[in-house]
Formats: sequence, structure tokens, C-alpha cells
Amino acid sequence: AAKKDGRGRARTFTRSMLIVLEQREMLRRSLRTALQEGQFFIEYQPFVKPRASVVGFEALLRWRHPLVGIIPPSVFIPMAEADGLMSEIGQWMLEQACRAAMTWPSHFTVAVNLSPAEFLHEGLTDRVAQILDLTGIRADRLELEITESVLLERTINNLDTLNTLSLLGVQISLDDFGTYYSSLSYLKNFPFDTIKIDQYFIKDLEHDEKSQTIVRSIIALSHGLGMDVTAEGVETEGQAAWLQKEGCDRLQGYFLGFPLPGAAIGDFLRKSGAVPLAGALRT
Ligand code: C2E
Ligand code: MG
Ligand code: MG
Ligand code: MG
Repeated sequence: AAKKDGRGRARTFTRSMLIVLEQREMLRRSLRTALQEGQFFIEYQPFVKPRASVVGFEALLRWRHPLVGIIPPSVFIPMAEADGLMSEIGQWMLEQACRAAMTWPSHFTVAVNLSPAEFLHEGLTDRVAQILDLTGIRADRLELEITESVLLERTINNLDTLNTLSLLGVQISLDDFGTYYSSLSYLKNFPFDTIKIDQYFIKDLEHDEKSQTIVRSIIALSHGLGMDVTAEGVETEGQAAWLQKEGCDRLQGYFLGFPLPGAAIGDFLRKSGAVPLAGALRT
């Protein structure tokens, strides 16, 4: 899983993963104070439109543990969820991400992931409204990403929550589409603005006709229902070109840009006029 990183941050993990697994208890204890100790930070990964270049970033949470080093969200978020800490961490995340977005070009969006516990938290919609207010960000610049697993956990109030969020004007994305149950009833019943095709279907795209057929169908389905499509995990020029040809609205992945610390975004944007993508895809 730690292949292909080349950047030495959250992705070079295999080695410390072992340590982490051995020291789970230690980690769980230190997670409790991580927020107060200022150990969390955020990386931002660009969303790119085939012809309009960068149009926003997804905020990805990282934990810099003083002994273990950088721990990826796949390890600590489940712990934080189990220990009831995710709601507070998520609130911090949402506020930081919106503040960061206010320093970007004013048409850029920022996407924030919501874990099941955050989505199911009663105060979620009030919290989102408060953060919009506090940071002054235009509601439609904020995208909230949820996965289908979130919708599985509770049925009664999910629609209410999503509708309230939609009424606030924020955008809602269905993350990792295709990996869970992919029940089409979700698409019929819930007000998603965007579907994100999971990287699982993108990785073999250039050689595997089944993946091509599936991705083409998801694009058609989304567009037919008035939703946009983002492809996740785009790693090669060939994948990007294919997705552009098939009308995918936004691309995301290492080919388009790695997750970057907030402080590196200015530089990235200055260079992104000449980002490989722009040349590669303008045909
Ligand atoms: P996700 O939302 O589906 O995010 C995409 C993941 O794929 C990220 O991993 C990203 O670094 C990685 N990725 C991006 N482009 C590529 C690529 O081209 N190839 C490959 N192989 N991977 C790529 P990351 O940052 O480790 O995050 C993992 C998951 O943790 C996220 O999946 C999301 O579900 C969750 N997560 C991250 N930040 C937060 C957060 O603030 N709150 C919550 N609740 N969940 C978060
Ligand atoms: Mg996501
Ligand atoms: Mg995803
Ligand atoms: Mg994913």
C-alpha cells in the first residue's frame, strides 16, 4: 500500500505500521490529547477539471505523533470513532479546511470527509451552519463527502440530514462509489451533487474493458441524474485522457497532484498553469 509515494509523507507507512499495530493502546491513549497538543495537520489534494485546471482541494487529515511519526487516517480515524473523539476532531477539521479555502481563489471548493459518527451526530447540521457563519465561506464552496457505509447505519434521519445540508447550500458527494453496496436507491432518494468513482475502478482502466464499461456506466448514470462525476486515484496520463474523453467532470489522483500541506498550495497553484496535466490533456 505504501508503494508509489515518492514524497515521504503519509504514504511511506509500511514500516511504522507495524509499530503502530503493536502499540495500538499507546496510540489510543495519546489520541485523546492529540488535538490539544496540536498534532493534527491537513493535506490538500487538488481536484482538476480537464480543461479548467485546478478547481478545488480535498482536505485529508494527518496525525503527526511525536514518537511514531505521521499516522494515516485509515489507522487513527477508526480509533477516534471507537473512543468518541471523532466528532471533536471533525469539527476542528471542518473549521480549518474552511479557513484554508478562504485564502484560495474564490471559485475553489474544499471537500471535507465525514465519518459515520460525524454524519450521525445530532449537532452536525447546526455545526456546519455555524462554521459557514464563522468562516464566511460561501456555502456552495464546501463539499461534504460521505460514503454509503454512512447511510447503512441509520435509515430514518439520513434523508433529513442530507436535505438540511442541501438547504444550507453545501454540496454533498458520495465518496468511494462502487465499493460498498452501491444500492441505486441511494441515488434515487438522496440529494447528491457529485459521485466519486472509487480508485478501484480507475486503476485498471487502460487495460480492462470491464472497468471501462463500469466507469462509462457510472458517468452516464450520474449525468442522467443531474450529478457530476469525479474520478479518484488517477495515476497515469492514459487514465486521465480516457476519463476526459468519456466526459468525467473532475479528476483527482497522484497524476494530477499529491496531497499537499496547506503552506505548499500557493506554490502549487503558481506552477499549476504549467502542470503536466494541462499540456497532457489539452488535445
Ligand atoms: P478518501 O476520502 O477516499 O480519500 C482518498 C484517499 O486516496 C486518500 O488517502 C488519498 O491520499 C489517496 N489517494 C489520492 N490519490 C491517489 C492516487 O492516485 N493513488 C492512490 N493509490 N491513492 C490516492 P488518505 O489521505 O490516506 O485517506 C484515506 C481515507 O481516510 C479517506 O479516503 C477518507 O475516507 C478518510 N479521511 C481522510 N481525512 C479525513 C477526515 O478529515 N475526516 C474523516 N472522517 N475521514 C477522513
Ligand atoms: Mg474523500
Ligand atoms: Mg474516496
Ligand atoms: Mg477511496
